[in-house]
Amino acid sequence: MKPIYERASIMLRSFIISLSKASWARKLVTGWSFAWNVASRFVAGEKLEDALLAVKVLNDKGIAATLDHLGEHTSNQQEADRAVQDVMDAVASIDRGGLRSNVSIKLTQFGLAVDKQACIESIAKILKFAQEHGIFVRLDMEDSPWVNATLELYRIMRIERGFENVGVVIQAYLYRSEEDIRKLSEQGTRVRLCKGAYKEPAEVAFPKKSDVDKNYDHLVQMLIDCSLAKGAPAATPDGKSPPIPGIASHDERRIEAAKAYVQKVGLPKNAIEFRCCTESGVTCRSASYRKVIRCGCMCPTGLNGIPTLCAVWPNVRQTCGSLSRIFSVDKRSNWNPRIVPGARFS
Ligand SMILES: Cc1cc2nc3c(=O)[nH]c(=O)nc-3n(C[C@H](O)[C@H](O)[C@H](O)COP(=O)(O)OP(=O)(O)OC[C@H]3O[C@@H](n4cnc5c(N)ncnc54)[C@H](O)[C@@H]3O)c2cc1C
Repeated sequence: MKPIYERASIMLRSFIISLSKASWARKLVTGWSFAWNVASRFVAGEKLEDALLAVKVLNDKGIAATLDHLGEHTSNQQEADRAVQDVMDAVASIDRGGLRSNVSIKLTQFGLAVDKQACIESIAKILKFAQEHGIFVRLDMEDSPWVNATLELYRIMRIERGFENVGVVIQAYLYRSEEDIRKLSEQGTRVRLCKGAYKEPAEVAFPKKSDVDKNYDHLVQMLIDCSLAKGAPAATPDGKSPPIPGIASHDERRIEAAKAYVQKVGLPKNAIEFRCCTESGVTCRSASYRKVIRCGCMCPTGLNGIPTLCAVWPNVRQTCGSLSRIFSVDKRSNWNPRIVPGARFS
């Protein structure tokens, strides 16, 4: 029997995912100040400028960032084209502002479900532009119906088109992930490993959290081994390009397990990085692993994709904690990378 908070978490997550295609949900979040207060714990802001400022605040604290323009399930080519332009603006701004950041994108936001070929060309356009600015682009992983298409598109970009500034996300809750990492390791793919944010059936994903955690630790070791086999390529000091293993989790046990393996096999500290969402910047800053390995934060911006919030809204305990901070600690917090009124990014 799962603990009550875990069951409540699953229900909450399902509910939020069910909002994913509802335009009214976005209006609610942006139009209702209470809802925006909740959402803004997880989202840097509605505009690129908000996110750039959040990245700068993080950079000033010695933390590298990833700009994640929220959004999935674009329903027409016009929206997809707009998303391409948004990401290119973000890439240009990161470079212009000398920020330590790269970007991550969700393929359904760029029309994967509308016109696959057009989506391929859009991603190639983004990667070429990002390459010219020396910036890495991560392909986020969405729910299981999109995993094959995402990995296929990665393969086209990396192998057929020869882009080196691209990597993917793998989710530890999927049974197939071990095999996927095995294949990706052959090319030394830079993989961000997360547990997985979507509600998946037991046919494709471990239903038990303990199995997901176990698989997570196993996959982390595979990525570290892959890095060593490829000469332990380092993250670039400008924060624009990551190493092979990207550990995306707030789970201290997973972090400790990875850290122990890093030390056991002697992986250099700049050959691995840890990523957390902006909400847990405190964890990011204060955890002891920071001394051993690089860490970074995600700065999601925009609210076109409510489901992405699920990725940073993992359980009820966390949500309750966030709510309490909105009403109390928030005002006193000095780490929060969200925008303070009147602040400007220049
Ligand atoms: C950088 C990053 C990128 C991601 N990209 C994707 C993606 O492309 N596709 C995808 O499916 N999922 C993605 N996710 C989401 C991920 O799959 C998980 O749903 C989410 O991170 C929660 O799992 P967890 O490993 O943090 O640990 P959990 O087992 O959910 O939680 C472990 C502990 O960490 C605490 N915790 C959890 N979240 C936070 C937080 N935000 N702040 C502080 N403490 C927290 C919990 O309270 C709990 O005590 C991403 C997550 C991160 C951090």
